[in-house]
Formats: sequence, C-alpha cells, structure tokens
Amino acid sequence: MTDPLPLHCAEVLDLLTELLEDALSATDRLLVEAHLAGCEDCRIRREQLRVTIELIGRAGRRVL
Ligand SMILES: [Zn+2]
Repeated sequence: MTDPLPLHCAEVLDLLTELLEDALSATDRLLVEAHLAGCEDCRIRREQLRVTIELIGRAGRRVL
C-alpha cells in the first residue's frame, strides 16, 4: 500500500510558502497537495498565504 498521507497540518503550513513559490520537490509537492485535498483548514490557509504573497510581491515591485 502506498499511502501518500501523513503530513500534519503544522508540517504542511511550513511547506505552503515553498509550494506557492514553486520551490518544493515533486515528492513534497504531492504530499502537500494530498493533504490539502483532505484538509479544508490548510486549503484556507493556502489561500490566505497566496493573497499575502501577492500583496508582498506587488509592494516589493513598487519599491524597486
Ligand atoms: Zn491540514
């Protein structure tokens, strides 16, 4: 049996930034996405983080 599971929410949160920046290995990415598929809390956090990163990116560009 290959159960791709077992990341805890705390681990997923650590990896979310990297996921959004496309900095994860394919393996980690699959693990995180598998968790997100089954965990609404983490999906919400991903959305919040995505928005935050976008805002930071815009602010950074404006400064540059
Ligand atoms: Zn979770």
